[in-house]
Formats: sequence, structure tokens, C-alpha cells
Amino acid sequence: MSESYEIIIIGAGPAGLAAAIYAGRARRQTLVLEKGVPGGQILLTDWIENYPGFPDGIAPFELMEKFRQQAEKFGAEFKMDEIKEIAETDNGWQVIGYQGEYKSRAVIIATGSIYRKLGVKGEAELTGKGVSYCATCDGAFFRDRVVAVVGGGDNALEEALFLTKFAQKVYLVHRRDKLRGVKILQERVFANPKIEIIWNAFVTEIVGQERLEKIRLLDRQTQKESEIPLDGLFISIGMDPNTAFVQGFLELNEYGEIKVNSQMETSRRGIFAAGDVTNVCPKQVATAVGSGVAAALAVEEFLSHLE
Ligand code: NAP
Repeated sequence: MSESYEIIIIGAGPAGLAAAIYAGRARRQTLVLEKGVPGGQILLTDWIENYPGFPDGIAPFELMEKFRQQAEKFGAEFKMDEIKEIAETDNGWQVIGYQGEYKSRAVIIATGSIYRKLGVKGEAELTGKGVSYCATCDGAFFRDRVVAVVGGGDNALEEALFLTKFAQKVYLVHRRDKLRGVKILQERVFANPKIEIIWNAFVTEIVGQERLEKIRLLDRQTQKESEIPLDGLFISIGMDPNTAFVQGFLELNEYGEIKVNSQMETSRRGIFAAGDVTNVCPKQVATAVGSGVAAALAVEEFLSHLE
């Protein structure tokens, strides 16, 4: 037997929780489904300084816990489940998870995207302790410090350039001898005296006791090993949106992100998407919140037309 709701929100990161606050305040029976701890990828950061309203910054877990409490206060229900499929019913959607099945008139998908990991020793332990996946989020903590960016795509080049505003030195560590990013960014990187490119290098280990201290590199041509002492390491090797469960069901773009229009509507009527899982959202808490709110307002409009 499926449990029935008016709105089901899949994912309890900033976008899903913001949507839940609005759906709850609209007095809609709202279920939020999350496979792990509410909060999403922002929990990988150790401090948020750029979310409006907190001039001294706030710990991501605390901010996300406040979002969750606010959604609960307005009546949103939370369940832990990982969703494997969405199916159409006579008057809405059936959301099928590993733990149960849930029915609703409208669905908001806010499953986010995950940073690709290097998969090396020390990465998980030092994330938030000098190792970051987002220069926009954490770059300002590295004023006059020495940092490195790993990757050779547009994002890595943009992050390296952005970091030169703060850091005294930025290494760009790339595994090949050619960058993948667009020419104009390459030109800017080559012209920037603060950036030194380390070509043909694999990061083999991230080392540090309490905080990041250094990285170990392997030159893939000479097989020589080396170390660089660092204050910050930014891993920028791409992102994977969490959309495997809607592949072939919703229209996705070339990166696997859910395509939405200005009303956050997907290719199926009654299914909306918000936050980093969409093709329109810069990967920031504030923009994810905005898109979650927009999706909840669009759902409200959609439901009121059905009544
Ligand atoms: P990207 O173009 O896929 O570049 C990833 C870079 O990381 C490449 O240089 C790659 O090296 C390197 N890399 C991948 N795995 C690695 C590993 N295990 N170890 C070391 N290096 C590794 O990704 P991007 O720079 O994030 O995005 C590029 C463009 O796509 C941007 O314009 C971005 O706005 C757009 N975009 C991306 C996404 C997404 O990634 N989900 C979504 C929307 C838009 P090689 O060059 O050797 O392959």
C-alpha cells in the first residue's frame, strides 16, 4: 500500500528543504524523502560565510538543521528512503523507494549532484580541513596561503583564477599535458603569474594530521614522486548529478542534469526539479534555496489549478 501526499520532495539538501518550508506553509501534505542525513553536499564544507543573514558565518550542519526544523515546524514529514523509480498513476505519481512506495499529485526532485572524488588516501579525512570541492565557497579562507587545484576542465581553470584573488600561489595539477578547458580560460591561466601548472601529475595521497599539510604527486611520464606543501587543495574534476533513477523517464541535458523551464517544470507534468540537480542552478546554497522556493510556488500554482 502506498502512502498518499499532495507533494513529495525527493532530497533534503538546501533546495529540497526550502521547498518543504514553502509547501508546509501552503498547508500541503508534504513528504520529504532523503537517503541519508539532511543537508546534502554543503555538509562537505566546514564553514559557510556567503549565505545571507549570517555575517559571522555558520557551520553547514547547523544551517541545514535549522532548515529542517523550519520545514518540520510547518508540517513537512520526513522519511529516510532512497528512491529507485517514479511511475505514473491515474492522478499523479508513485515514488518507489527501497523502503516503501509513496503517492502524490506533484513531485519535486532536489537530489543534488555530487563532486567527483579523486579516491586517494587522505581525501575523505581532510575534506573540510583544507580540502575543498568549491573555491567560490571556501576560497576566501585562503588569503595569502598556498593552494592547489586539481583538474584541467573549465571549472578547474575558473577556480584557479578565482583563487588568485586570495592565495599568494596557486598550483594547477593536471593529469595530462594539455588542458581541457576553453582557450580563453587557458590564456588567462597561462598569463597569471600566481598560477604554476604541474603537468602530467596524479595526486597519489593527501597528507595531514589535523589539517591538510601536503600532497604527494606521481609524474606519469617519468614515474618520479614529489610532494607539495599546501594550505588548501581544491578538487575540481567534475560533478555528477544524482539522476540515475530518472534516466529515460525525464529529459536530461548532456551532463545528466534535469532540464527545467523557468517554472522549474520538467518534461513531465506535475514533476518539478530544483537545485543542483537541474541545468539552471549555480552550485551555491543561496541559489539552491531560491530554486527550491520557485519550485514550491510553481507546485502550489499547479495543484490549485487541479482543484
Ligand atoms: P570536465 O570538463 O569534465 O573536466 C574535468 C577535468 O578533471 C578534466 O580536465 C579531467 O582530466 C580531470 N579529471 C577527471 N577525473 C580526474 C581524476 N580522477 N583525476 C584527475 N583529474 C581528473 O568538468 P568541469 O571542468 O567541471 O566542467 C566543464 C564544463 O562543463 C564547464 O563549462 C561546466 O560549467 C560545464 N558543466 C559541467 C557539469 C558537470 O560536470 N556536471 C554540469 C554542467 C555544466 P582530462 O582532461 O584528462 O580528462
